[in-house]
Amino acid sequence: TVAPDLQAIVDRIAAEMAGREERGKVADYIPGLARVDPKHFGIAVATHDGRMFAAGDADAAFSIQSVSKVFALTIALGKVGDALWKRVGREPSGNAFNSIVQLEAEQGIPRNPFINAGAIVVSDVVLAGHAPKEAIGEILRFVRDLAGDDGIVIDDEVAQGEADTGFRNAALANYMRSFGNIHHPVDQVLGVYFHQCALAMSCRQLARAGRFLMHEGQHPDTGFNIVSPMRARRINALMMLCGHYDGSGEFAFRVGIPGKSGVGGGILCVVPGIASIAVWSPGLNERGNSTLGSLALERLAAATGWSVFNQR
Ligand code: GLN
Repeated sequence: TVAPDLQAIVDRIAAEMAGREERGKVADYIPGLARVDPKHFGIAVATHDGRMFAAGDADAAFSIQSVSKVFALTIALGKVGDALWKRVGREPSGNAFNSIVQLEAEQGIPRNPFINAGAIVVSDVVLAGHAPKEAIGEILRFVRDLAGDDGIVIDDEVAQGEADTGFRNAALANYMRSFGNIHHPVDQVLGVYFHQCALAMSCRQLARAGRFLMHEGQHPDTGFNIVSPMRARRINALMMLCGHYDGSGEFAFRVGIPGKSGVGGGILCVVPGIASIAVWSPGLNERGNSTLGSLALERLAAATGWSVFNQR
């Protein structure tokens, strides 16, 4: 059920976060992320009954980075279905988001679609049958449709920064290609991946885009099936187990809601049947997940009883 005082809850969380000193470190590997003010905090909660509760910088656009892996995975599953699981695993990695170590023992099959290696395979699948520009356009159109908001854009400066510095992602892609698990030219695959990471969205837009995952795969505005109920459950399961990389256990322990983080400081969370939540605060913890975003979600889960490990 929806807590009756949800607006008061998000207002209180935003006020607490505004007063916090320890925010972690803003990602600084590209200028487009490094210059973001660590003082930002935003939260938006879209509820199953169609309401929206927001506080703080909920309308400021930020780089969604790895949160995009949820949307790209959804598109890839729509294209090739369960055949995707021959090329990407479904187990938590226990390693950093950009780790290469497991790929050798596992023959170029990444552990899950939410670490970089797995997301790069997903990009390869989305690219099939397209020019890179079309694949990027498909991802952008998909996210706009989910959010019901044509104002969502890709930040080209961020995408270019990713390309200029993405040596490790290039290494991952080339390494997987050597095992035959990347089917298109590496520069094209990375072009798709870097542009999806550079999607710029506000908390409000992101919470809206995640609604289909709380609605058993249905688009809440159109009733159209984005994915089947079973697939929505499975994407949520992957978010719970793999959405915060080597911090996924800690996030489940503290928050208990499926979530996907990004190094821009955003986190998208899905409470099945109840809410789609986006938080943003750019400072990151040592695992690359938003420090205050995680804390805010911990507060929200405690105030609402929305941990999926609660009996409702
Ligand atoms: N663009 C980043 C990268 O590929 C995304 C990583 C993240 O958000 N965790 O390194």
